[in-house]
Parts: sequence; structure tokens; C-alpha cells
Amino acid sequence: MGRQNVPRDQWLELGYECPRCGEQVTEADVYSWRPMPEDPKLLLLWCPNCGDRVEINHI
Ligand SMILES: [Zn+2]
Repeated sequence: MGRQNVPRDQWLELGYECPRCGEQVTEADVYSWRPMPEDPKLLLLWCPNCGDRVEINHI
């Protein structure tokens, strides 16, 4: 599943739509803000509806 570029302010304010089920995932669903030090834009979230891992580039 591809990683989308999402402006930080946008997803923090509006949430981000899970690519699998369409549920809005929000800051409360963040699993890791920076799982890989060499990839500082990567953000991992867990969808509360389908349980899928959601990856975004917050830019
Ligand atoms: Zn989902």
C-alpha cells in the first residue's frame, strides 16, 4: 500500500482517511511518530476500524 504525502497541519486538523476502509484516523491513533530515524517524515497509525496499519509522509 503506497504511502501518501499529507501536510501535517491537514491530517492533524481533519484526520486522514484509511486507504482500506475509509475510516478517519487521527492523532489519537498514532502508533509511532518516527519509527525510523533515517526516514523522519514517516508516520505510522493504526486504523481503529479495520486495524490496518496506515503509513503517511507528513510533510
Ligand atoms: Zn481502516
